[in-house]
Amino acid sequence: KKPHAKKQFAIIGLGRFGSSVAKYLAEMGYEVLAVDDNAQRVQDVAHAVTHAVTADSTDEEAMTALGIRNFDVVVVAIGQDIQSSILTTLILKDLGVPYIIVKAQNELHGKVLHKIGANRVVFPERDMGLRVAHHLISPNILEHIELSADYSIVEMKIPSSIIGKNLKQLDIRHKYNCNVLAVKRNGEMNITPRADEPLIREDILVIVGKNEQLTKLEQTYA
Ligand code: ADP
Repeated sequence: KKPHAKKQFAIIGLGRFGSSVAKYLAEMGYEVLAVDDNAQRVQDVAHAVTHAVTADSTDEEAMTALGIRNFDVVVVAIGQDIQSSILTTLILKDLGVPYIIVKAQNELHGKVLHKIGANRVVFPERDMGLRVAHHLISPNILEHIELSADYSIVEMKIPSSIIGKNLKQLDIRHKYNCNVLAVKRNGEMNITPRADEPLIREDILVIVGKNEQLTKLEQTYA
């Protein structure tokens, strides 16, 4: 393989989640193999991806024949059928797929997937639910990027109470132990914001900090 060749992806299970992943990667110019045991699902994405194949991913011979272990990343997006999801992951692991991402249906499913060697387990419904709930509680938070279990970056609309004040007056660093990385104004990112520049209504603060401190800050500025 060429050293700078683009990564190759295989997506198994073409429900709402799997087909979105497959189509997006293909749109971004990556080589994508899409697999489902339902021929109609395969046909529905065939126009959008590099290869689309009808196959049962719990059939080890079928997976070997597809050369599945030559893919850099395989995404297992089988939702409802937990048994098939687990069997598929096990087979991919045995065949030596270097990186396996699996969509989990619930916590227990996720635990099993980790135990049998999934490199990454995702919970799209749970995570989206949390995001929506979080947004309802803190409507000023536009973006939330998890850096680790304890730290995040948030993009926050400023509350009217701090319009006209500057970063020096707000003193977020000392009061909340958080750092203002940037101020976004009219879509432009200023990564060297001046401490004495008054904030205007449209400003969005990009802040890094510990989650509990960020929550405190959000509540004060809500
Ligand atoms: P979503 O919630 O993302 O829509 P679904 O559970 O509805 O996910 O979709 C999972 C997909 O995985 C379905 O299209 C189904 O046909 C496919 N699938 C289930 N079991 C297998 C299997 N053993 N091999 C290949 N595809 C499978």
